[in-house]
Amino acid sequence: MIKRIDHLAIVVESLEGALGFWRDALGLPVTRTETNAREQVAIAFLPLGESEIELLQPTEADSGIGKFLAKRGPGMHHVCVEVGDIEAALARLAAHGVELINETPRQHEDGTRYAFVHPRSASGVLVELYEKPGAG
Ligand code: ZN
Repeated sequence: MIKRIDHLAIVVESLEGALGFWRDALGLPVTRTETNAREQVAIAFLPLGESEIELLQPTEADSGIGKFLAKRGPGMHHVCVEVGDIEAALARLAAHGVELINETPRQHEDGTRYAFVHPRSASGVLVELYEKPGAG
């Protein structure tokens, strides 16, 4: 079951610079910022309805997000869709011939399981699937 958009992730050169639009001009609140050492990215979380905007600033130029920024400039990085059962969602996608970046789910520290779908199979957009802990 597809539930909702969990977040839209946008790559930026600097969080402070980007917040001039997203927080100050547009008026979204910032609930928290964090640095993900493994992904080498600083993230600002801005809730919007039942979803969130995530601003991603690379902390290292040679990280995945850093290379994305160098190659394509700031902009939309991925859309994340929450599902009830990530294994069932991945099996359904595979049955439809969709190219998956992660064929089995990976897991965040909070227990959220996630997997990415290749943009080649998704209209040029990187799609992330989320299954929240206890969602079943
Ligand atoms: Zn994401």
